[in-house]
Amino acid sequence: MESILDCLIVGSGPSGFTAAIYAARADLKPELYTGLEPGGQLTTTTEVDNFPGYPQGVTGPEMMLQLQAQAERFDTKIHYEMITKAEFSTDMGGIHTLWAGKKEIKARTVIISTGATAKYLGLADEKTYSGGGVSACATCDGFFYKGKDVIVVGGGDTAAEEATYLAKLTSKVTMLVRKGQFRASKAMIHRVENTPNIEVKYFHELVGIEGENGMVERARVVNNQTNEISSIEVHGIFIAIGHKPNTEIFKEQITTDQNGYIVTQKGSTRTNLPGVFAAGDVQDHIYRQAITAAGTGCMAAMDAEKYLAELE
Ligand code: NDP
Repeated sequence: MESILDCLIVGSGPSGFTAAIYAARADLKPELYTGLEPGGQLTTTTEVDNFPGYPQGVTGPEMMLQLQAQAERFDTKIHYEMITKAEFSTDMGGIHTLWAGKKEIKARTVIISTGATAKYLGLADEKTYSGGGVSACATCDGFFYKGKDVIVVGGGDTAAEEATYLAKLTSKVTMLVRKGQFRASKAMIHRVENTPNIEVKYFHELVGIEGENGMVERARVVNNQTNEISSIEVHGIFIAIGHKPNTEIFKEQITTDQNGYIVTQKGSTRTNLPGVFAAGDVQDHIYRQAITAAGTGCMAAMDAEKYLAELE
């Protein structure tokens, strides 16, 4: 007989593993597909100092291994495979079909926790200095630049928010905005303009990073109006040019906002489709923290359990 899972979880960040822990403990026998980057975005960060319960901090990869071990302790089956296609039922109690390559998986509930990916500029130097001064998350890594000078690249709300956050910790923030104006909202621009230790360089772009032993020491920037290249001495470079939610294979069937994030019903993780839930950064462009992702992962498992109970 064809087997139908009660709960299929797509994605292996804090939201996916937390959903797995809760779903497994509720006896839904969840199976989780990790995707190409098991552990998600946290595996690319270094120290995580803001996840409650780790007074001494923990590295991102270590935390993800622990979350996975906790999910496996309750018999979550982990598949190191990528979900490549989905066909969701639109009926209450309908069966959803997803594929990992040619393998077909059927499930009564699906929790999408595929996360979002920070956009980078595509410079080779970004990779060289990743973990040595290049970051895409001020809340995660800002602490390491206390009293130092940093750069924020971007002119949207994320960049403005990262810059004002970093301005409290660091001695100076230089913002590189590639146009002659911000894209950010008026309120955020106002905050930037009223922060004395933020300098905005309009028409400037990052073109290279220099340093020693993998640690950033200066940024090479170009004025795109004059083509003049100059150097700025900094220890940290925060790329804040947006995130891309990983919803490519779902967005034809699931309601997303104009930026591609899955829309969930207020106060829950329900999507527009019965039995399909979304947790973590794939449905949250505002908070984007491991702890908030884990929180919505818990909610998704509870929502899935309730949905299945209602069908009985
Ligand atoms: P946005 O797409 O709004 O802004 C991206 C910024 O990065 C733009 O200034 C863009 O420049 C710049 N940029 C893009 N590519 C490059 C590049 N290759 N080189 C240099 N600069 C580049 O992304 P955000 O992450 O800022 O925001 C996404 C959404 O989330 C928005 O709707 C925003 O309002 C929302 N948000 C809301 C927050 C809040 O309400 N507190 C906080 C954070 C985000 P250009 O303008 O030239 O295209």
